[in-house]
Amino acid sequence: MPVNDDTDPLRNVAGDDTTRDTASDDAPRDTASDSAGEQLPVNELFYSLQGEGKLAGVPSVFVRTSGCNLRCWFCDSYHTSWEPTHAQLSVDEILASVADHDADHVVVTGGEPMIHDGIVTLLERLADRGYHTTVETNGTIYRDAPIDLASVSPKLGSSTPTADRDPKGDGEWAERHENDRIDIDALAQLADAYESQLKFVVTGGDDLSEIEQIVDRVRAAANDPIPDGDVLLMPEGTTRTELDETRQRVAELAAEHGYRYTPRVHVDVWNDAPGT
Ligand code: SF4
Repeated sequence: MPVNDDTDPLRNVAGDDTTRDTASDDAPRDTASDSAGEQLPVNELFYSLQGEGKLAGVPSVFVRTSGCNLRCWFCDSYHTSWEPTHAQLSVDEILASVADHDADHVVVTGGEPMIHDGIVTLLERLADRGYHTTVETNGTIYRDAPIDLASVSPKLGSSTPTADRDPKGDGEWAERHENDRIDIDALAQLADAYESQLKFVVTGGDDLSEIEQIVDRVRAAANDPIPDGDVLLMPEGTTRTELDETRQRVAELAAEHGYRYTPRVHVDVWNDAPGT
């Protein structure tokens, strides 16, 4: 079982007493203090194992911010994007909750955490306390902050919420998502500034040509080399049943192209249980 304390009010802060914002904005409506950088909309804060990427299996505290500038149809954190819910927490409150857990790794995730000004303050304060920080981002926004691992997940064309795959409407977000999902300059800045991994959610073999195009463009724009070992392929799927259909194919594609395969440990172990 994930090591969660269900009595902890911050274990899942998307409960009935939290702010619910169903507007289609990037972020939940911010307060003045959020724009000043001292508060963040937090959807969930919990302790588990990192499930994906180079640090898969490492015990970590997860701070999941609410709000995203994209709308992938398969989003596995629906209540940070399509229907964002959150509690508005000060950086001090977040740090206190992080300190409740015996971990030295903190994963700042979303949603898209980089849309929030306050994320820099949070990362600075975590660094001051000696935490290793991973930021999970879609790679459309660069910020200068103390980040130990930038886990960058560019969104492919197969993520676009066309009318037939829209989980909520009739494709109203498709054009904006398609226009905004790739920013080569931001991806190159992230790759140059931080130890990073480029992590692609793969739905099938058709995705590989686009992945190779994006990797080539980022390599051309970046100053530092991006080895194939920093390019990760991850199967799409948020349940064991879904992963059973994609896991082997994506692993074979990684081997075929010389990229790295990443499992989804939290799905393999806990299926689709919340807070994992
Ligand atoms: S970028 Fe991430 S958080 Fe945003 S909609 Fe896509 S999968 Fe969800």
